[in-house]
Amino acid sequence: MGQYLIELHQVAKSFKAADGKARTVLEKLDFKLAQSEIVALLGKSGSGKSTLLRIIAGLIPADSGKLAYRDKPIYGPVAGIAMVFQSFALFPWLTVQQNVELGLEAQGVATQERKARADALLELIGLAGFGGALPRELSGGMKQRVGIARALVTNPDVLLMDEAFSALDVLTGETLRNDMLELWDGDRIPTKGILIVSHNIEEAVMMADRIIIMASDPGCIRCEVKIDLPRPRDVDSPVVRALIDEVYGLMTMRTPQEASTGVALSRHVGYRLPETDVSRIEAVLDLLADAPFNGRADLPQMAEESELTDEELFPTYEALSLLGLAMIEKGDILLTALGRQYAGADQAVRQELFGQQLLAHVPLAAHIRRKLEQDSNGSLPEQPFIELLEEFLKADEAKRVLEIAVEWGRYGEVYKYDYHTGRMTLPEPARED
Ligand code: ADP
Ligand code: MG
Repeated sequence: MGQYLIELHQVAKSFKAADGKARTVLEKLDFKLAQSEIVALLGKSGSGKSTLLRIIAGLIPADSGKLAYRDKPIYGPVAGIAMVFQSFALFPWLTVQQNVELGLEAQGVATQERKARADALLELIGLAGFGGALPRELSGGMKQRVGIARALVTNPDVLLMDEAFSALDVLTGETLRNDMLELWDGDRIPTKGILIVSHNIEEAVMMADRIIIMASDPGCIRCEVKIDLPRPRDVDSPVVRALIDEVYGLMTMRTPQEASTGVALSRHVGYRLPETDVSRIEAVLDLLADAPFNGRADLPQMAEESELTDEELFPTYEALSLLGLAMIEKGDILLTALGRQYAGADQAVRQELFGQQLLAHVPLAAHIRRKLEQDSNGSLPEQPFIELLEEFLKADEAKRVLEIAVEWGRYGEVYKYDYHTGRMTLPEPARED
C-alpha cells in the first residue's frame, strides 16, 4: 500500500433517468494511478469518463465502492488533486491573475504568497505579462493556459485533465500538450501523476505511459495498453504509428464478450445510435471504396485522407458496421460485400439498401416502423418514442438519438417526420402496391 496516488475499488455510479429509474453509468470499476505515471482514458462519448474524473476529483460522490488518494478515503475535493476542464471554466469577470489565485484563496494562502505563486506559474506556463487581462481578451489556447495554471498553482500531486485540449484547434492543442509534457518530463512541476481523458488516440499515445480503454453502457474498463517509450515521442516513428494502429483497433473492435453477446447489445431499442449523419456515412463509404483504398483502409490513413477527427470518424465507423456496410478488422476498416454493392449503386438503390439495413439492424427504427404500421392512420406523435428512449438515456440524449433515427429513417424511406407537428408517419405506399 502507499505506492498509489489514486486507488479505486469497485466504484459504481448511476444517475436517475427522466422516468426516475436509475441508469448505471459506471459499473464496479477498479483503477490505480501510480507515482510518476501519466494515464490516458479513452472511450466513446457517454462511456462515463468525465463522471469518473469528477468522482476522483471529489466533485460528485460514488454510489458504492472504495476510493482513496494516498490511502486516505476521498469524500470531497482533496487539496492534492486538481482538475483542468475542457471548457476552461474561468470566471469571466476576474483577471487572469485572480483566476489563477482562486485555487489558493480556497486553501487560505496569504495574499503576498498567492501573488508570488500565481506570478511564478503564469511565467512557467507562458502567460507572463497577461496577469491583468480578462479571459475574453485571450485566445482559446491562452485561456486553457490559465486553466492549467489555476490547477498547477496549488502544487497538486495529481492532475486530472478532462479533454483539456479538445476545444482548441489542432496546432494550439499540440503546442500546449507539448509544453505540459516538457514541464512534466523536466520535473518543473511537482505533480506526481496525471490522468487525462481524451478522445484523440494520437494524443493519448504521445502522452501516456498507460492507456485505458473504456467500454460503454455501463462504463467499465475494457482493456489497457502499456506504452514503454521515452518522451518526447516522434509521431511519425514506426513504433508510435504501430501503437496508434493498435489502439485504433482496440477502440473499434468488440471484445470477445461483446462479440458473443453483440447481437443483444445493438439489438436494443435504447441503443445509443452513433452521432453521425447520412452524408458523412456515405462520404466515408465512398472514400473507402475508391482508390487508393479500394475497399480496405488502415484507420490512421483513413483519418488523414478523410480530414475528419476521430470524434467524427468513430461514430461513422460504428454506423457503417451497424448497418452491415463495413467492418473493422485488425486496425483496418473494410467494406462488406453489401458495402461494395452500395458504393456502386445509384441514389435510389442506395436509399433502398439503407432503409432495408436500418430495419434489419437498428431496433429503434424497426420499432417505430412497426408501431406506425399498427396505427390505423399510420401516424404517431414522437413523444412516446422519446419517453421510451428516456428509460435508457438522459432526456437530451434521448432526443438526440431519436433525431438520428429520424434522419436515417427519412433517408431510407422507412418513415417520415414532420418538423412542425413532431409527428412520425408512414411513407406513401410505393406505386406497385
Ligand atoms: P463521457 O465523458 O465519457 O462522454 P460522461 O461521464 O459525461 O461520459 O457521461 C456518462 C453518462 O452519464 C451519459 O449518459 C450522461 O448523460 C450521464 N450523466 C452524466 N452526468 C449526469 C448527471 N448529472 N445526471 C444524469 N446523467 C448524467
Ligand atoms: Mg466527457
